[in-house]
Amino acid sequence: MRIGLEIHVALPTRSKLFCSCRTDASEPNTAICPTCTGMPGSKPTLNRNALAISVSIANALKCRVPESTSFARKVYFYPDLPKNFQITQKDEPVGAAGEITIESGKRIGIRRVQLEEDPAKVIRQDDYTLIDFNRSGVPLVEIVTEPEIGNEEELRMFITELKSILYYLGIDIDRELKVDLNISVSGSRVEVKNVTGMKNLLDAARYEVQRQEKLVKAKQGVVQETRSYVEKDMKTAPSREKESDEEYGFIFDPDLASYKTTGIRIAKPVYASKIAKEYSKRYGVKDSALRELIMFNSGNLALIDSAKDRHGMKALITAVELLQRYASKKADPSVFERVVEIVEKGAYPDKEMMLRIEAGKSVEVHAGASDEEIDNEIKRLIGENSKLLKELGKNPKAFNFVVGAVIKKYKSNPRAVSERLERILKELE
Ligand SMILES: [Zn+2]
Repeated sequence: MRIGLEIHVALPTRSKLFCSCRTDASEPNTAICPTCTGMPGSKPTLNRNALAISVSIANALKCRVPESTSFARKVYFYPDLPKNFQITQKDEPVGAAGEITIESGKRIGIRRVQLEEDPAKVIRQDDYTLIDFNRSGVPLVEIVTEPEIGNEEELRMFITELKSILYYLGIDIDRELKVDLNISVSGSRVEVKNVTGMKNLLDAARYEVQRQEKLVKAKQGVVQETRSYVEKDMKTAPSREKESDEEYGFIFDPDLASYKTTGIRIAKPVYASKIAKEYSKRYGVKDSALRELIMFNSGNLALIDSAKDRHGMKALITAVELLQRYASKKADPSVFERVVEIVEKGAYPDKEMMLRIEAGKSVEVHAGASDEEIDNEIKRLIGENSKLLKELGKNPKAFNFVVGAVIKKYKSNPRAVSERLERILKELE
């Protein structure tokens, strides 16, 4: 099975790609001008900030960034584009031949990254159509992958990784994620157009893969076609759209010059999942705990980095988790430092204690139970109840019951208790 993606991401610029209209207007048709409504004689002027962001994305996705980049007109006839063409990139996109390494270690190729304008929004009513030009000209980056995603799990990993890389560049893809999926189970390529949001993307892929697998199994063959995702039925259905990229007319855009990419300030990429992997290896902690804390939270990463040379990584992770759970405001480094010190003394503060620490008040720290005490308590609970022991390996409720009972007695760190219990169960196997 092969899945390829075309992902459209809106860039966080204040103004549109080729004019100075705002990008955040909500009242329809209030942020428009002759350029973004495609009036005759109007001329586009490139938003340099959008260019810089798109080059930063291409760089973070390890693409080859050309020395100069240019624009093309993609010609088509549709009410969302009264000038009859969309300004996009064809021969000289801002990036090509990149890759993303996903959680499993597999590399997924990035074919190209291109900068383009969003068309207007078309709203269909019973017997008429409304058009909102606020969206017309909003800068988009289109990221095209190679068809190298092998299953649903890899698709989830790919989007998570991309989302994290873009998050660290200041781009939130949840705000407006629009994806075209190419899915081929047997060799015939089916395109599922305009899927919006992460959940729909995974649902659409799952449905389409199963649909094609059923056809192949029944020896009916898969028709090469364009489909769309019907959210309310959680299904894909044939769509009437016929055009493929080969059928569009492209011409060089004479209104826009060629732009040098040298000299553009490129934002330094942060690969949080790679950092999580490195730290987990170096400090002997769980990769998943770190990933959860830092992939979409630069504040947590900064806290850990600021203290990692003075404290143990386990205590840092616990302290960040405690702040996330209980803090009423953004943690400052001095509060963090105090929480880490308390955790390193073996204590596990509850909500009340955390609020006192946050308020700068004094707290009484009792050292938590030792590993031996925790082990003894676990063994005592298991020894009292032979049925419980049988349930522990397979029933999460039984596992949580034991962890909960130990926490209640000693006010211990849940993660530490879980680890002791896992270890004891392994020994008993
Ligand atoms: Zn405008």
